[in-house]
Amino acid sequence: MKMLKRLEKITYAIRDLDINVPKGTIKLNIGDPLIFDFKIPKNIENAMKHAVEGGYNFYASSEGVKELRERIAKKENCRVEDTIITAGTSEAVNFLFASLVEHGTQVLVPSPCYPQYPSLIKLWGGTPVFYKCDHNWNPDIKDIKDKIKKGKSWTGNKIRAIVIINPNNPTGVVYDRELIQEICDIAAENDIIVISDEIYCDLVFDKKFIPAASVAKGPIATLNGMSKCYLAPGWRIGWMTFENFKDNVLRESVLKLCRLRLCANTPAQYAMLKALEDKTHIDKVRAELRSRRDFMLKKFDEMHEDGININCVKPEGAFYAFPCIEDKAGKWKSDMDFVLRVRDNAHVLVVHGSGFDYISPPDKKYFRMVFLPPEKILNEALERMRDYIKSVK
Ligand code: PLP
Repeated sequence: MKMLKRLEKITYAIRDLDINVPKGTIKLNIGDPLIFDFKIPKNIENAMKHAVEGGYNFYASSEGVKELRERIAKKENCRVEDTIITAGTSEAVNFLFASLVEHGTQVLVPSPCYPQYPSLIKLWGGTPVFYKCDHNWNPDIKDIKDKIKKGKSWTGNKIRAIVIINPNNPTGVVYDRELIQEICDIAAENDIIVISDEIYCDLVFDKKFIPAASVAKGPIATLNGMSKCYLAPGWRIGWMTFENFKDNVLRESVLKLCRLRLCANTPAQYAMLKALEDKTHIDKVRAELRSRRDFMLKKFDEMHEDGININCVKPEGAFYAFPCIEDKAGKWKSDMDFVLRVRDNAHVLVVHGSGFDYISPPDKKYFRMVFLPPEKILNEALERMRDYIKSVK
């Protein structure tokens, strides 16, 4: 059997590299907060047990459990009817593009970008148009404006939506209010829908998180979920909210798809309702992540003493870093070559920058790693990486 054409270009670098890895490899590729020592908070775990034992095991309504939608609508400051529960944020992304994208549709996404976005846009027949980010990984406003101009033809604007991921995966950068405002204003002026992925909203270390919907004047879909801030990625609960739409077409389209897949996990929705009442775990998680980030940056600095030129924009949120190794001598053919050789020689798994649609210049190799592990494991991983890099002549 031959694979369908539409699947040929679909990739998810974060997991695609994760096959046949040598035993004992330290995996810094997947953004699952539970892989190392973080645990799901007890109150959330108990809420799930109670939901299952209490008989909440039926099909929920397709748009989500009403009480949960009401609670999220209150939290996000939007209408209940504009709040939809999905099987993870991933399903919300899929439903949005299934509803917005057809052949010829363009969607602006950042470069580097979390790979689900470009892949799903392509799957539904559209084209991701990558906007540049500056040396601090902030979206380049001029480039966004240029791309919008180019997307316009005599038949209208081909660009339907712009994606922002804040706090960002893969860079960990958190956007300032002014920047978010500017992007939202440009989108509104050009009749472009903003899709704001805020799944890491509570994991911000050094500044205040600004929800894009709080500054947007035009149509905006906000995405969030349980996987990161509530440490329950396996429960597959996410949600999306719609604001400032002139009609209900997008919402009704998404609801059709919701009915087609019956419902999101019912007991997890009831447990989520409880989880929203008590978020005391988050301060501890945030403090721990901040300290692990600082440790990682210190280790990068120490590598300079060994002549390894590794540089990284300081992550301000989430749990990702997007560093680069200077490679003026061309020791590695590509970022992928670097990552594969680190995997096979140092037994540390990170993800190549091009897997996030970011093309490294020839003299640099970008990669993404999580700084989720406790210091001891992070130390071991970065020592192994340093020893390997030093050994390459
Ligand atoms: N959006 C972003 C930016 C992510 O980083 C991830 C997972 O890593 C997702 C969405 C997927 O989240 P979920 O587990 O809710 O499907």
